[in-house]
Amino acid sequence: MANYYLRLVVQTRANFEVIDLTERVQSCITSSGIAEGIAVVSSLHTTVAVVVNENEPRLLEDIREQFLRLLPPDGNYRHNDLHLRDCPPDEPENAHAHLIAMMLGNSVTLSVHLGRLDLGDWQALLMIELDGPRLRQVAVQVLG
Ligand code: ZN
Repeated sequence: MANYYLRLVVQTRANFEVIDLTERVQSCITSSGIAEGIAVVSSLHTTVAVVVNENEPRLLEDIREQFLRLLPPDGNYRHNDLHLRDCPPDEPENAHAHLIAMMLGNSVTLSVHLGRLDLGDWQALLMIELDGPRLRQVAVQVLG
């Protein structure tokens, strides 16, 4: 079995941001030379999600608004009691970001078929920054 691994480095620009990784992951598959197999795409952070959905600007606004309504940043969270935790001085109050990341999921596994990421017409591979802006990493492993 062939194996290809790469960490994508992504500089996010906003506190909540959706970044389409479809083309970058497709480039990994092309570089791997693997025609049939799977691609696993994983966030290496606790406040970044990886999902498959539609990259439609108004839907992306709905995603931001609805998840922040469910889990508002200024909610009452134990994780944000920084004075009760053993954490570095620059630790942000980001409990909502952890919780949204858990709801959305931190990795996806997709089929690779004929050398292409096997996505439907309206599907895109999206990374969702929930506590940016920061320098982030996403692992891509292609097996086949
Ligand atoms: Zn945290």
